[in-house]
Amino acid sequence: MTEFGLIEYVAQLFGSVERQGWEAIGDDCTVLPIGGGEVLVITTDMLQEDVHFLRSATSARELGRKSLAVNLSDVAAMGIKPVAALLSVALPKNLTDEWAKEFLDGFHSLAAQYGVALVGGDTTSSKSGVSINVVAIGRGRAECVKRRSSARVGDAIYVGGELGASALGLRDILSGELDTCNAAIHRNPEPQVELGEWLGERGEVRAMMDLSDGLASDLCHILKLSCCGAEVDVDAVPAVEGDIEAAVCGGEDYKLLFTVDGSAAEQFERCFEQKFGYAPYRVGRVVVSSVPQIVWLKSGQRITPSWRGFTHF
Ligand code: ADP
Ligand code: MG
Repeated sequence: MTEFGLIEYVAQLFGSVERQGWEAIGDDCTVLPIGGGEVLVITTDMLQEDVHFLRSATSARELGRKSLAVNLSDVAAMGIKPVAALLSVALPKNLTDEWAKEFLDGFHSLAAQYGVALVGGDTTSSKSGVSINVVAIGRGRAECVKRRSSARVGDAIYVGGELGASALGLRDILSGELDTCNAAIHRNPEPQVELGEWLGERGEVRAMMDLSDGLASDLCHILKLSCCGAEVDVDAVPAVEGDIEAAVCGGEDYKLLFTVDGSAAEQFERCFEQKFGYAPYRVGRVVVSSVPQIVWLKSGQRITPSWRGFTHF
């Protein structure tokens, strides 16, 4: 079974179980109303040695920081401020105390940066590498929550930063070049926490998620849940080193992907630039479509990309 096949199966299997107020599987976080117009949003992500990282190519400090970063990114993707986390680790017996302390220092440095409390977890041993599981929790006003399902035809589509550095960095790491700028970005993703919270406050922002699998794949999640299609201008995609394939198909950029009511887009861009000092990257627009597909445009003309990892519906 594929990753998405398994998630689909889980969703179906539990479809008839009463969720008691919890939001269903499918978004970056689940959502639970807690009264007073407030919600909690909750997410979890795992990092497994030799699947998500090579211990020889990353420091313990970077790994600790990244394991929280990828979870804070999912909270930010809901438009909500992260407030707490739980951390579970399975560690091989031969790991040094120094490694474990550095790992926790890395985790702590990012938690302290955003005021995220560590409120629980689990610690156990492992016979096959380091496993890390983090739960992150956000708290905020219900009306700020941005869901993947809220895009509407005519919305402008934006990404929160340059794309592709992480994929280029992974390529460097796998070819033994650990000291490149992109390799450092791959090991030290910066979750867009402040941006996510700011976008959550804005009514003209409709759908949002974070980019963990690449624009070509992730945008389709928004399109599927919002029952529409998209046109994306490849020249507008902010591709690091001009590498459009890395930008569109590469994973782990952890930049926000969001849509904005088309009639409010220009005013939104002015406010965004005033606040953050750079213009948001408008890459396309939401269009009518009976299938959740992306039409790629170059100079206004439709193109058929041959990117690896690109899937047609
Ligand atoms: P993200 O990349 O934002 O972390 P995923 O693609 O991992 O999201 O997951 C998509 C959705 O499926 C999320 O709502 C997630 O909570 C849910 N999900 C993933 N794996 C499982 C699982 N094993 N059991 C239940 N829900 C899952
Ligand atoms: Mg996500």
